[in-house]
Amino acid sequence: MKTAITGGAGFIGSHLTEYLLASGDEVAVLDDLSTGSLENLADVRRHPRFRFVEGSILDRAAVDRVVAGADRVFHLAAAVGVKLIVEEPLRSLRTNIHGTETVLDATLDAGAILLLASTSEVYGKNASDSLPEDSDRILGSPLKSRWTYAAAKGIDEAFAHAYWKEFGLRVAIVRLFNTVGPRQTGRYGMVVPNLVGQAQRGEPLTVFGDGTQSRCFSYVADVVPALVRIAEHPAAYGQAFNLGGTYEVSILALAERIIDQLESGSDIRLVPYDKAYAPGYEDMRRRVPDNSKARELVGFNPKTTIAEIISNVAMSWQTVMRAPTAAVTEPAALAAR
Ligand code: UDP
Repeated sequence: MKTAITGGAGFIGSHLTEYLLASGDEVAVLDDLSTGSLENLADVRRHPRFRFVEGSILDRAAVDRVVAGADRVFHLAAAVGVKLIVEEPLRSLRTNIHGTETVLDATLDAGAILLLASTSEVYGKNASDSLPEDSDRILGSPLKSRWTYAAAKGIDEAFAHAYWKEFGLRVAIVRLFNTVGPRQTGRYGMVVPNLVGQAQRGEPLTVFGDGTQSRCFSYVADVVPALVRIAEHPAAYGQAFNLGGTYEVSILALAERIIDQLESGSDIRLVPYDKAYAPGYEDMRRRVPDNSKARELVGFNPKTTIAEIISNVAMSWQTVMRAPTAAVTEPAALAAR
């Protein structure tokens, strides 16, 4: 198979690149290196079936350099992370909407299959017990930049669905719920690398709000094979699939667990939301996936426990002998977000 991956130098994209090279694919990666990094691809840079193109998904010529001639395309490139989205809403909107449209057009012209990476953010503030894919979306005002990511990804999904319906594009959508693992950086606010890094450095773990908000973390090595199986399944086209963890944990309990497990001397610091984020920021209280659709179609059954996730993330930094990226740790700095 000839596979193109947009965002292949990012956290999930680089794991997918390695997985597909190991399965025998030719892999061409397009990445503008804005949040991704070549370090993530260090192990595959010299692989004979690997090709890297530096460029933006907003540039059709650059997209064609990886997509033309491909059998399938994994579209993972996006402006992600709360910090970036809140600080640069225009960039996030343009990249996530126009960039996806460019990738859809290029994939259609190439006659390839497309897997579109979307997000649990599309459900917004819907805090139901477990969210099936047809759940209603509860979004805040479009004038609050926090919601631009969810809005843009919702448009992306609608575009993909329309390309499937009107042009017959074979496109499947996955909604990723807090995927975590080695190579995810805390620089853009993600909680697991942030808290693990703080615990390893002996700094206070910054838990926003009262810490009762919860998430279901999924491990990248559980998610990546499911992306491939969904892209390969003809019954997936025109559909969306949740991919998330099965264990719901509050952020406070997560912080306690990290300290305990890493035998860290750190304590926990509760940071009020108005200090952690720009004023008016709204957090999601809870986000629990119903994975049954992906389980039934491709046998998605995430096995990695939260304890294994924490130790793998912690160990990955020790293995490469460098300290985890110092994330935003001080409330004063956080307020600047
Ligand atoms: N969070 C936290 N401390 C941090 C970073 C994040 O308490 O240092 C919280 C954040 O407010 C949210 C949860 O952890 O409630 C998950 O945040 P993340 O940005 O990882 O994912 P998302 O909000 O997109 O689910």
